[in-house]
Amino acid sequence: MPAKKRQTKFIFVTGGVVSSIGKGISAASIAAIMEARGLKVTLMKLDPYLNLDPGLMNPLQHGEVFVTDDGAETDLDLGHYERFSSAVMTKNNSVTSGKVYWDVLERERRGEYRGRTIQVIPHITDEIKRRIALTAEGMDLCIVEVGGTVGDIEGLPLLEAIRQIRLELSRENTLFVHVTYVPYIRTAGELKTKPTQHSVMALREIGIQPDILICRSEKVMPPEVKRKISLFCNVHPDNVIAAIDVPSVYELPLGFIEEGLDSRISEQLQILAKDADMSDWKEIVDRMKRASKEVTVAIVGKYVDLHESYKSLNEALCHGGIANEAKVNIRFIEAGDIEKTSDCSGLLSGVDGILIPGGFGSRGGEGKILAISWARVNKVPFLGICLGLQLALIEFARNICGLQGANSTEFDPDSPYPIVNVPPESRESGEEIPPMRLGAFKCLLDEGSLAHRLYGKKEIEERHRHRYEVSNELLGKLVDAGGLVISGIHTGERAKSAPPLPDGRRGVVDIIELKDHPFFFASMFHPEYKSRPRAPHPLFKGFIKAALNYSEERQRRLVRG
Ligand code: GLN
Repeated sequence: MPAKKRQTKFIFVTGGVVSSIGKGISAASIAAIMEARGLKVTLMKLDPYLNLDPGLMNPLQHGEVFVTDDGAETDLDLGHYERFSSAVMTKNNSVTSGKVYWDVLERERRGEYRGRTIQVIPHITDEIKRRIALTAEGMDLCIVEVGGTVGDIEGLPLLEAIRQIRLELSRENTLFVHVTYVPYIRTAGELKTKPTQHSVMALREIGIQPDILICRSEKVMPPEVKRKISLFCNVHPDNVIAAIDVPSVYELPLGFIEEGLDSRISEQLQILAKDADMSDWKEIVDRMKRASKEVTVAIVGKYVDLHESYKSLNEALCHGGIANEAKVNIRFIEAGDIEKTSDCSGLLSGVDGILIPGGFGSRGGEGKILAISWARVNKVPFLGICLGLQLALIEFARNICGLQGANSTEFDPDSPYPIVNVPPESRESGEEIPPMRLGAFKCLLDEGSLAHRLYGKKEIEERHRHRYEVSNELLGKLVDAGGLVISGIHTGERAKSAPPLPDGRRGVVDIIELKDHPFFFASMFHPEYKSRPRAPHPLFKGFIKAALNYSEERQRRLVRG
């Protein structure tokens, strides 16, 4: 007889009162504490909006687009999930209402519903449930975060689906966690529970009684406030969990343990598991608190008004700091501001490292090129990511090789030296918008290069998200000028149609470096997606180390006068 399949337990995380109260971080932290109890955990994000995925959404509105190994363009919360747990996210772990409707309507067009009327209940809700079941397969615990705030019209089908799952799987297999906000009213000197009461009321109206409340607040929550919330929201007082603002999000899992959240969850879900081993999380927090050194890194970009646009990058820099026991300050610089004065000295003074992140479109491009020149000439540690690599190459072509007008065809389709271009196979396909190179690709590193030294191995795998590639045809001119090193190439399928590299190898350029510079490194891939607090990415570790060296040197120079 086949062994009985173990029932996956579910935790559904909803949010109330306002957005941006850290629902994603809360879900991720629950994953961290339950993994620390030895459970096999996965997470999933259900987003109420109608876009098929966030791929085309403006980062200034929605924050960063997070990319998974399998090439899904997802909500940034999936980044939190991967940073806080060891779960590997795939295209199944991020679902939007748009995607659900799309699939149902495609099925309807194929006649699969045999002429029946298609309705939100049961057809849309069934599709949501199918997708949840698919992601949960083989897991001990599946944490499902519902995007948006309770009360939004568009979130209703998602909430209805999770309500049905509770009915089907019963209380010991499903748990509702509601993350809410308890504001502190300064004039009254009080924490106010009414908004929480109202959002719980809205949830109950649609048939969901939360089991646990995670109450975000900026002040310590006195027992009487917890009691009041418990009474009015019909939640056991032990299940009212306070989540006070902490200096670092990586303290949250420890805070949850202190509040007994892992025990509350285990009790209701009847999980028999060891106590949580939080030693690695304690180590991270200790390292952050021990940090005695400090560096400032400039991110020169065009989405700097919303720091969430560079979420994974900010975190990866923080991890680089953790690895070096240093505090990393980030100075966000609007590339357009550098363009206005054509001068970096003011905006970039006092920075110990310069980072040009990924980006799309030409706005601010010339300002970023000026910042790259500044880093190259003044030997300031430089890290270029995707667009950052493309622009570093353009800077080199123009200013070292004298190729005036060198550019990417993304910005100047008539450039005399299109050093960054649509790859040959996309050009031939004749599509107006070239397809993206998306997801994880292998990259081979050159023996003895900075890349090789940092990674400590010759083959790596990193995530990409771009349409344009370095044009091998023109690369010879740049390499001949000296100083430029192609230290990482992709030799897989995509390399087949590419013309040979200057040294005769078949490959697509993934990493460039400069000789005679302490740290000048740029990659076509986005290393930030794979950095974890428990495993800081080698590039960020190396970049921050170089920035620390630069900072010490800078201070010595100041003392010498
Ligand atoms: N816009 C560039 C491209 O599509 C760079 C993209 C990026 O930085 N991720 O190739």
